[in-house]
Amino acid sequence: MGKKDAKSFLIKEKQLFCPICGHDKFWKDEARVEKGIGQFRPDWEAVTLTCEECRHILWFEH
Ligand SMILES: [Zn+2]
Repeated sequence: MGKKDAKSFLIKEKQLFCPICGHDKFWKDEARVEKGIGQFRPDWEAVTLTCEECRHILWFEH
């Protein structure tokens, strides 16, 4: 895929594991959700962590 290396992350001082497959390495990215999408407020910014193994995406509010 040519993506950068996945990393492990700490959330609240606890290591993050994928809730789907239990993997511990993620790709970090940032996302901006545009107006008018579902329940999100305008200009909602988020950090996304994509599981290297199963591609599940975890969202964190910026
Ligand atoms: Zn996973």
